[in-house]
Amino acid sequence: MSVFRRKKENDYASIEWKIKKKCLDLIFECAKSNFPNEFGGLLRVDSLSKHTIIEVIILPGTISGDSHAIFKLHMLPIDFSIVGTVHSHPTPNTRPSKADLALFNKYGKVHIIAANPFNESSWNAYDYLGNEIEVAIV
Ligand SMILES: [Zn+2]
Repeated sequence: MSVFRRKKENDYASIEWKIKKKCLDLIFECAKSNFPNEFGGLLRVDSLSKHTIIEVIILPGTISGDSHAIFKLHMLPIDFSIVGTVHSHPTPNTRPSKADLALFNKYGKVHIIAANPFNESSWNAYDYLGNEIEVAIV
């Protein structure tokens, strides 16, 4: 990769997302404590380092079932420090469901799914179209 390459502001593919290890650990803890239900949360970035996820805002209430449509859009804040969503899957499947994809497309830029058994080898991140993206643990 050339160091002289200029990044375009709207070039999502060039964004290098990062997440603090303690955020990821919190996600796994919440997923475990809500199991066999799903949990949902919002991902917040640092105001200086705009692509580093530093905080997880846990949404109240757990909803059981396998549709994954666990976010109520009217509950989601318009807050530009919130870059996307996270939710757990009680199964080992990290793929987004149809309901997940509909949500990803409407809200946020980066979405994390933490699947059973909720550790560093059982999660994936997706862009708003549901394409798998890299998120570095920092
Ligand atoms: Zn889901």
